[in-house]
Amino acid sequence: MTVVVCGGGLAGLAAATVLAEQGVPVTLVERERYLGGRLGAWDDQLVDGTRFQMERGFHAFFRQYANVRALLRRVDPDLRRLVPLEDYPILGPRGAESFAGLPKTAPFNVVELVRRTRSLGLRDLARVDALRATAMLCYGEHTYARWDALSARDYLDSLRFPPDARRALFDVFAHSFFNPEEDFSAAELLMQFHFYFLGNRDGLLFDVLDRPFGRALLEPLRAYLEARGVRFRLGEAVSRVALASGGAQVAIDGSAPLDADAVVLALDVSALRRVVAASPALAPSLRASVETLDVTRPFVVWRLWLDLPARADRAPFAGTAAAGRRGPGSAGGLLDNISLFERLEDESRAWAARTGGSVVELHAYAVPSELSEDEVRRDLRAGLDALYPELAGARTIDERFLWRRDCPAFAPGSYALRPTVQTPHPELALAGDFVKLPFPSALMERAVSSGFLAANHLLRRDAQPVVPASSRGLLAALRL
Ligand SMILES: Cc1cc2nc3c(=O)[nH]c(=O)nc-3n(C[C@H](O)[C@H](O)[C@H](O)COP(=O)(O)OP(=O)(O)OC[C@H]3O[C@@H](n4cnc5c(N)ncnc54)[C@H](O)[C@@H]3O)c2cc1C
Repeated sequence: MTVVVCGGGLAGLAAATVLAEQGVPVTLVERERYLGGRLGAWDDQLVDGTRFQMERGFHAFFRQYANVRALLRRVDPDLRRLVPLEDYPILGPRGAESFAGLPKTAPFNVVELVRRTRSLGLRDLARVDALRATAMLCYGEHTYARWDALSARDYLDSLRFPPDARRALFDVFAHSFFNPEEDFSAAELLMQFHFYFLGNRDGLLFDVLDRPFGRALLEPLRAYLEARGVRFRLGEAVSRVALASGGAQVAIDGSAPLDADAVVLALDVSALRRVVAASPALAPSLRASVETLDVTRPFVVWRLWLDLPARADRAPFAGTAAAGRRGPGSAGGLLDNISLFERLEDESRAWAARTGGSVVELHAYAVPSELSEDEVRRDLRAGLDALYPELAGARTIDERFLWRRDCPAFAPGSYALRPTVQTPHPELALAGDFVKLPFPSALMERAVSSGFLAANHLLRRDAQPVVPASSRGLLAALRL
């Protein structure tokens, strides 16, 4: 069997890894000149001549990401590149909330989190709709049928948490999936609560890579795959797929088509829609399902090289509970999180040590499309200055501003038609962080899990065991 993997993000790389390890000749076609997709990294240079790797933005490697870890182990068997962040604060108007030191199981983790949340008093708790809140502890097969039609906003509104507590406990969390609450499925939100917190013994804490993604993961993985015969075609875009009995042909813009026995489409949502729309021979059910996919609103990653250091006690990564007061005039309302890169990875650490400055990355998710780049910049900088006043007077030595729109939407009511890894065509599999999986998963973990599953599917065996997360919340398991 020969396979063409379309897309060199985590999903495509995971599929290529399993296939190549099983001796399958793989060609991986990637539109960009770098690998990694939304985890990508490329070489760049600052105005002061320092060479560095710019990335698509800070990434948290949660401890329950068993399949991401299995992929990382191919190039880092002891996971030495992953370093734990012991805590990360959520900075809000009433100080910082913390996720450190929580009990490991539900409901004790929830009880303790609620107990220590400054913005929640006993009187507030009495007003909360406890019955609806228990849906968070009841994750199970029924969750999508019961809650997918509702938006995360309507669900969270119905819980009647006071605004500050809601912002610190829920809005930050909901926003981490890039979708605005009003267009985000309540079922998807409940699945994420379960996967990241309530059904997860590792808590909400995570690890980070101690060097840029290219050096920590993507370059070693490329070398690992090349040693196993994978051919990389970077800077080339797939435009169409044709399937004929027992084989496939992948059309590439400006190059001769590639023939193979099977194909993995591991593209982002917009590219997948374009490729499937241009491939009329694909089954109508697959075309209809892919047509329902969409990207959510844009997000911004702004990395700043500043001439002043952040205060020594600042966390390497902090979420903000300011997000939510969005739009022009709400200074800082777009800011979702702040990373201090010199406290995370070696290149920035060396730059900061040499210059005495700091490397700060600001993220804004689900950015309203009507805002201009200038407005977003002003808002994010106002947010940084308010939360880290010691940086308010800092001069920007250099900066990189990425405004992208390639994260999947999980709109209310979209679950039923969401495509799965398997398609009606035995020689075609899908992978990506938008794919419906038979167990709870999200973001990088969903991308890698789907890539592993796509390879297993084409190989017709479980060549790579895929570790599923627990599929039932506490109350669902007790049949309550
Ligand atoms: C700013 C930011 C922060 C994030 N933080 C986290 C985090 O902390 N934790 C976490 O778990 N996840 C995080 N994520 C999400 C994570 O990056 C994604 O879930 C994951 O990388 C998706 O991988 P993928 O392979 O499914 O898709 P992608 O990475 O989008 O890969 C798709 C690939 O297809 C390529 N492609 C597109 N069109 C074509 C074509 N026509 N031909 C060939 N190739 C094509 C694209 O260039 C891309 O490389 C973050 C994402 C962003 C943007």
